[in-house]
Amino acid sequence: AADATAGLVEGLNPQQREAVEYRGPALLIVAGAGSGKTRVLTHRIAHLLATKDAWPSQILAITFTNKAAAEMRERVRYLLGEAADGMWLKTFHSACVMILRRESGRLGHDSNFTIYDSGDSRAILKRLIKELGADIHKLTPAGVGAAISNAKNELADAESYARNVDQNDPVARMISEIFSRYQYELRKNNAFDFDDLIGETVHLFRAFPEVLAQYQQKFKHILVDEYQDTNHAQYALIRELAKTASLTVVGDSDQSIYAFRGADIRNITEFEKDFPGAKTILLEQNYRSTQNILSAANAVISNNFDRPAKNLWTAAGDGDKIVGYTGYSSHDEAQFIADEINKLHSKSQGDDAIAFRDIAVFYRTNSQTRALEDIFIRSGIPYRVVGGTKFYERQEIKDAMAYLVAIANTRDDLATRRILNVPKRGIGDASETQIASYAEKNNLSVRQVLSHVSDLGFGPKITGAINQFAELMDNLEAMIPNENVDVILRAVLDRTGLLESLRNSKDPQDEARVENLEELVSVAREFQRNNPEGRLPDFLNEVALVAAADELDDESGTVSLMTLHTAKGLEYEAVFLTGIEEGLLPHRMSFITPGGMAEERRLFYVGITRARKKLHLSLAMTRTTFGESESATPSRYLQEIPSDLIDWRESGSGRGMPTTRYRASIADDQGYGSSEGSSGGYGGTPSTKEKKVWSGAISSVRNNEGLQLEVGDMIEHSDFGKGKVIATAGEGARQTAEIHFGSVGTKRLLVKVAPISKL
Ligand code: ATP
Ligand code: MG
Repeated sequence: AADATAGLVEGLNPQQREAVEYRGPALLIVAGAGSGKTRVLTHRIAHLLATKDAWPSQILAITFTNKAAAEMRERVRYLLGEAADGMWLKTFHSACVMILRRESGRLGHDSNFTIYDSGDSRAILKRLIKELGADIHKLTPAGVGAAISNAKNELADAESYARNVDQNDPVARMISEIFSRYQYELRKNNAFDFDDLIGETVHLFRAFPEVLAQYQQKFKHILVDEYQDTNHAQYALIRELAKTASLTVVGDSDQSIYAFRGADIRNITEFEKDFPGAKTILLEQNYRSTQNILSAANAVISNNFDRPAKNLWTAAGDGDKIVGYTGYSSHDEAQFIADEINKLHSKSQGDDAIAFRDIAVFYRTNSQTRALEDIFIRSGIPYRVVGGTKFYERQEIKDAMAYLVAIANTRDDLATRRILNVPKRGIGDASETQIASYAEKNNLSVRQVLSHVSDLGFGPKITGAINQFAELMDNLEAMIPNENVDVILRAVLDRTGLLESLRNSKDPQDEARVENLEELVSVAREFQRNNPEGRLPDFLNEVALVAAADELDDESGTVSLMTLHTAKGLEYEAVFLTGIEEGLLPHRMSFITPGGMAEERRLFYVGITRARKKLHLSLAMTRTTFGESESATPSRYLQEIPSDLIDWRESGSGRGMPTTRYRASIADDQGYGSSEGSSGGYGGTPSTKEKKVWSGAISSVRNNEGLQLEVGDMIEHSDFGKGKVIATAGEGARQTAEIHFGSVGTKRLLVKVAPISKL
């Protein structure tokens, strides 16, 4: 046994080792990116088991994604073998689902409740907004959903929300009304939304101390990764559970990127106050990245105020410089990335060749993937979009899943109504409404009404269709206890006509939909292989909890495309950070959000620190948003990286792209100013003059807000001097103006960002 435990601390540095071996009520491990926090957590779990300080069943370990949980489990298994089986290594959500499935009866739910994702919630909210006429207040499902979600993250329920509402504010009162009706719908459908999973578990613990006591006795050791991103509800959950247990949390306040979902950095900064006697361990050696990458990250994050200085260092050596690139367009930027990936992957690199799976491309918003996907497909680079239009959010998948949900939870009206007439079987909107209102009046579920169809007074045709549907659903439901999930799913696809209607369709998209449904069958089959005892409700649980990062598949040999938020905790040999522009990173929403600029900087920091050896930063001079091309400005964060760390590449080099002269004129057209007199062109290391233009352009983002030009206006441009407006097009932030300058001729500029002022 002594040998086994020695092996678990071998290769760790003294601080890491201390964190693995420490025994006490509360332990906080704070450290910068890549310093081995997750690794320490894993080794600590293995060490607790190996020293017999805990049985597997006494350990609750919380990670941010299912993928991280699976990796940790695999790691512990590798260190210890089967001794690790039986512990709870889960996300907050999946841990709460486990608890709620057992205890939800006390909260008035059946144990076979459905979990609604944000799309399901929006569908209900949309209906409620319509029913209440709330659209006159310009309320949107997304907006109301966010308000409800924020409230739930603060552990407010509909009643307490209503009590605190400003009665003189009609919009707030309306949101409160929608909130309480929304909760009523969830309860009626025997469903929880994502936020409820946490919030209701906390309520359960507070309302039923004997239930809480049971879990407090069970878990002797609680460990939480990425603690900086816990919100109040998650914090409360941990506090309740950890009253008697030993609690270990690890985190990095510089990587807190979920404030918009209620994450509270204070959970980590005030840990020592919350848990008196807590031990704090700092880790300072970064094992992930080269010095150049680390220096860039440190330089950027040091611009945030209110943070303790960190001393992150690496023994890895300087490594390669960071590569910078400015494309003419997002298309050009994507082409550069594709070319670079092919170079990195190329066999001519010998042993240094990087596998596709070790390469990732990050972006701030999902809409940035299209240009990348276009080019990757044409360049033959295998890739995978992690998150994005998630597989489970596609219409055909949701239809098939709705069948499964409707037979597993017959009280779920949302699911039943979704498929009542999918595929079309002659039960139209009017009939659906009639069925729903009959259900409402008689306090029945929609499914129950289907068997009272004779009371509804429909004609023989509709009555026949409904009877047939009800019988179909009964038959499918009867399969649940005895049949494997993939068999039930196959039956759904075949007997409901879902697959047939797509196969007979002439719409080319329907072909892809058939493939997606086939893919869903494979998912079910794989689930059954991994869980031979698993039944349909178990499968539905698993699917409902698939988080974006879970779609990753390291064996697949594909380049991963994902948002910066999804990238948290991961690492890659080569990383491409794209769209480093004002308005994207920092995102335009952050301009008006308190603390937004610092949060976006942390997001940039997270992105940089994912890279082990190669980091690429790229941007485009123009970018299409909402179908219109706008000129872009380099992100202010770029200037925070010491310029000697970045090797700026020539734009368009080696691809027969236009010459320097053309490049300069494009830059002019977009209001960037001339690159004349600089050695590297726009894409090169910026000259002092260009730096001036950059910051000029950046400040003009703020200065020109609201400026509208008319033909005949006289203006002054910081580089071209005085000019006269001879034409304008577009309005607001998209207004462009053709301006005649005596010195350099006519230029077309985007008014909002051009360094101009009206005379
Ligand atoms: P993040 O803040 O990004 O979540 P982290 O602090 O959790 O990072 P890990 O992912 O645990 O860091 O570790 C980063 C990398 O360094 C991993 O590849 C890990 O295996 C490696 N590593 C950590 N500690 C050591 C060590 N003592 N010796 C060798 N490699 C290590
Ligand atoms: Mg980590």
